Parts: sequence; C-alpha cells; structure tokens
Amino acid sequence: MAGQPLQFDMSTLCKGGSFELALLDLDGTLWRGSDVIEGAPEFVERLRHSGIRPVFFTNNSSRTPEAVVAALQRMGFTASVDEVCTSAQAAADAVSQRVPQSGAIVAYVGGEGLREALRKAGFDARRADGKDIREPWVKLAQAAAVGLDPSVTYGDLAVVSRIAYRVGWFALTNPDVRLPVEDGFMPGNGAIGAFVAAASSAEVVVTGKPDPSFVRYALSRYGVPVDRAFIVGDNLHTDILAGNQIGVYSVFVRSGISGEPKDGDPQPDLIVDSVANLFRQNA
Ligand SMILES: [Mg+2]
Repeated sequence: MAGQPLQFDMSTLCKGGSFELALLDLDGTLWRGSDVIEGAPEFVERLRHSGIRPVFFTNNSSRTPEAVVAALQRMGFTASVDEVCTSAQAAADAVSQRVPQSGAIVAYVGGEGLREALRKAGFDARRADGKDIREPWVKLAQAAAVGLDPSVTYGDLAVVSRIAYRVGWFALTNPDVRLPVEDGFMPGNGAIGAFVAAASSAEVVVTGKPDPSFVRYALSRYGVPVDRAFIVGDNLHTDILAGNQIGVYSVFVRSGISGEPKDGDPQPDLIVDSVANLFRQNA
C-alpha cells in the first residue's frame, strides 16, 4: 500500500473500532530535536477521542518513563507514565523471562532509565563499574544489560563482557550502531553491544526496534492483539521493519530522518507527511 494518498481517512481504520493501540515513535515522529512537530499534540488527542490508546514507544533506554512524560508535556502533549514503553523496560522483561529469581544481581551499562526498569522488575541492578572487576558481585551477577552510555569505559565493558560470557547472553536495548548528528554520526548503542558481543561470544538479545520482541512486549503489556495495533515512525529500518516483522500495520512519516522507501527497504502500509495528516476527518 506504500504510496497511497496522504489523507488518512479516519473512517477507514476506525470502522468498527478496529484499532485500539498506537505505538508512536518519538524523535522524528512527534518531535524533531527540541521542536514539536506541528499538529502532533492534536494528533495524540484525536487518537484518544477515537478510543485508541497512544503509547510512546521508544528505543531510548536512558530516560525514565517519568522523564519521557516530562519531555512530552514540555512540548504540549498530554501523556502519562503508563503510556510510555521503553526498550529498557523490554530489557528488564527479557531478563525476567530468563532469570526468574527476584533480587538477582543484574549488571548494566546505560542510563537511569535502564537502572530504574531493572529495579522495578525486582532486580538488584548494579552499574558495571570497571574500576575493580574483582568485586564479589561481578561473579554473582546473573545477567547483563547494555544501554547507551557515553561515559562507558573499557573496564565497564570488561565487567559486562565477562558476565555475558559466563551466562551466555546479554540484553541490548537498541541495536543502532550509529546515531545521526548534524555533521555526521556518533557511535550508537549497537556499537557498544558489538564490542561486548565480540569479547564474550554471547547471544545478543535485542529488546528495541526493529526487533519484533519489543512490539510483542508492548502488545502483551497493553493486552492488545496484533491486528488491533499500528506503529508510526520515521525510520524505515527500525519502526517500519519492527511492524512488518510482526504484522502490525505500519505508518511511515516523512517528518524525520528517512527518505522515501526504495526497493529493498522495509515497505510501510501507509506514507504520510507527518502525524498531523493522520486521523483527520477532512484532511
Ligand atoms: Mg524516530
């Protein structure tokens, strides 16, 4: 359906209340850098009025849900903490599936969002501090998780790698190897994960987009079947691919980083200029 007209006829998708959940990417979709995308807050309100629950669905594992809500509110959105779904929370869930023991030590590198998600899931989350890799807890840790952490050191990665080697796997909240910036890129969380994967030969359990497990986590958390959700995003290779891999209807917005989909790119079900075009009666 790629290349369909820009209008997103509300009656087409809402007939019979077919959708219950909207998985919304943030940067490039609802905001761009520090600027809100025009019409995006009104779009979120239209979703609510249509009986569709908005979910702020982000690969950013550094921010806590409270911080995401604060950022959304600063830009004029209404949002609540339970509407935020982060790849850090999905990582904590992935650890829970493999380490059912409450209170188990989980080593991580990453930000406050990952630490809080692990703690809320009942784990004793400890930042891998490579100043002393002979700390007793390093030998006791039952899992390791890697989120983006610009202050990470060789010693921190040594701790995480050794734990990953011992347990055979680690959670990676975001597989992007590069983060675009104005004059090029910065290495992303995927690049840090590649270091740990190379050093440990451990299985990499990706918990962010485009891995379908992130969508599956959200559907399960909100209790919505796959055909009642849609995903909106500006990145063909994360947002749209995530939707395609699990069969969730996908909407690509031109307001962010990706150009038009080409042959070989993940193909969205619908393309619009921005979320401002979505769910309008008379767009
Ligand atoms: Mg984006």
